[in-house]
Amino acid sequence: MSLLSIIVPCYNEEESILLFHEALCKQVDQMPVDYEIVMVNDGSSDDTLKLLKQLSAIDEHCIYVSFSRNFGKEAAMYAGLKACHGDYAVIMDADLQHPPYLLKDMYAAISEEGYDCAGGLRISRTHDSRLRKFVSHNFYQVINSLSDVEMKEGEGDFRMMKRCMINAILSMKEYNRYSKGLFSFVGFKTKWIPFEDEERAAGNSKWSLKSLFSYAMEGILSFSEAPVHMAMVLGITLCLASVISLGFLLFAPSFAIGLVTILLLLSGIQLIFIGIVGKYVTKDYMENKQRPLYIVKESNLPL
Ligand code: UDP
Ligand code: MG
Repeated sequence: MSLLSIIVPCYNEEESILLFHEALCKQVDQMPVDYEIVMVNDGSSDDTLKLLKQLSAIDEHCIYVSFSRNFGKEAAMYAGLKACHGDYAVIMDADLQHPPYLLKDMYAAISEEGYDCAGGLRISRTHDSRLRKFVSHNFYQVINSLSDVEMKEGEGDFRMMKRCMINAILSMKEYNRYSKGLFSFVGFKTKWIPFEDEERAAGNSKWSLKSLFSYAMEGILSFSEAPVHMAMVLGITLCLASVISLGFLLFAPSFAIGLVTILLLLSGIQLIFIGIVGKYVTKDYMENKQRPLYIVKESNLPL
């Protein structure tokens, strides 16, 4: 029988983790698969670790990995994927916002329907604040127009993957991780399974406006050269504007227009050179990530 690994990043989840474990087991016990639950304690300051240890003692399916401090959900997901042994792995939040009933459909998609990945697509956001809805909606529009990878509105980290995709994700060892971008970057055939959002089982979301903003910036900066490109385009535009302004100066010489012309020209040239330096830096930045140039899914040669 195949082995399914369930990866659960946990940060201060003492109120949810037992409820989650119970709901999860109820679901996977009915599925035709062996399973392990890899719970990663991301430096919780509450009793999460104690509960994870208790769970591991009473349930042989449970494995726990515990960080020395809070490293963030991205690091926790990577550690979980690295530690897991499954032919398949699914990443789930500990707060029951990722409904366990979806696992059955996800499993059917990758074990029977020929998909490599099955992702949950959140089709409603009734439990999110207005601000969060606004930021999320616009974020997908911006990132899709700026970056080289395509992200679907409503997609998250809740997805089940085959071993080939797990290995591809693990091969990307970059420090500043943005998993939604990485999932899209590695490709593979993905089925999207819609679900309605659920309220948190207990506790509060760990996202603040500040962390949402830096997460969105990470997405843009890790997958796009667009900001640097914008500096260049703006620089060229300002230089062109200075030429037009020069035309005005020739017909109607005045000190003010002269000043504007020089200002436009100088700031334009500066922006162009900032853009050029930025291009070198982003090239180096991308090289430093040591991402693979391509990812092979299968071949008749030994990989
Ligand atoms: N999480 C984590 N490290 C963090 C923040 C969150 O491991 O620094 C975990 C958290 O315990 C939960 C999941 O990531 O299982 C999603 O977090 P949260 O529910 O706060 O995010 P939201 O659902 O609001 O997007
Ligand atoms: Mg949540």
